[in-house]
Amino acid sequence: MQVTKTVDDTRAIIKAWKKEGLTIGLVPTMGFLHEGHASLIRKCREQNERVVVSDFVNPTQFGPNEDLAAYPRDFERDSQLCESLGADLIFHPEPEDMYEDPCAYVSIEKLSNNLCGLTRPIHFRGVCTVVSKLFHIVAPDRAYFGEKDAQQLAIIRKMVKDLNFDIEIVGCPIVREEDGLAKSSRNTYLSAEERKAALCLSRSVARGKEVIRKGMKTEVLLAEMRAVIEAEPLAKIDYVSVVDALTMENVDVIDCDVLVAMAVYIGKTRLIDNFSWQLPQER
Ligand code: AMP
Repeated sequence: MQVTKTVDDTRAIIKAWKKEGLTIGLVPTMGFLHEGHASLIRKCREQNERVVVSDFVNPTQFGPNEDLAAYPRDFERDSQLCESLGADLIFHPEPEDMYEDPCAYVSIEKLSNNLCGLTRPIHFRGVCTVVSKLFHIVAPDRAYFGEKDAQQLAIIRKMVKDLNFDIEIVGCPIVREEDGLAKSSRNTYLSAEERKAALCLSRSVARGKEVIRKGMKTEVLLAEMRAVIEAEPLAKIDYVSVVDALTMENVDVIDCDVLVAMAVYIGKTRLIDNFSWQLPQER
């Protein structure tokens, strides 16, 4: 497995692979890798001749009062995991290698305005900008994203469509801890007491699935899901919403495929979770 820090070194390797006609898969990450990331890397390994993992805590997707400085980092551990999963290259740049007084940004309108975009107004612009840069640097055939960040996945799909990136976007299911908590690098921020409290997110998701299956109204669904979280004293809801799976706009009546998504503060840590719901097919 090779490790590169600069765009030029990465491009040189990619160029050689392209010359050989090899297919390339990309897994963009912010590092501090866990089983969620590993599932993306495994899928990428199955489907491509060369596997590239990017490991970069992207400053442009953090707001001024967010956790950029505190975000956990452990490149040694990340590279061992990538090696064990059969990755061919880790691209691990420094912020200065990626951004030199930037003036160009990529933002995807409408879809970025709801849900996480309400509390994190510049977040998706940062994500789309760094992912576009990675797409240009690595020129992958396929790129892998987790359904854990479902709004991000919808935005990336729209970006690829609108900007004609010739890249297949592969969505991968949420990987959870045994007790249900969605795996996240940010789970390391939680104290033992908060870790227990954080289970209210996956419990709320489970309750939501039960309610939606019964065909209840959106207000009932949201009220039931909120009640599960509100019963937990350490939790504070940022949002619990039902949105159109493609547009990310709120829906009052579930007459399309939807994403049911939430962000919840457990103490100071903001966690997200979600589930998707497809309309039953007409016979
Ligand atoms: P991050 O390092 O948090 O930016 O995540 C990098 C990629 O891994 C994103 O596409 C995430 O959606 C995905 N990911 C993170 N956690 C999980 C998880 N628990 N299950 C599946 N994918 C995940």
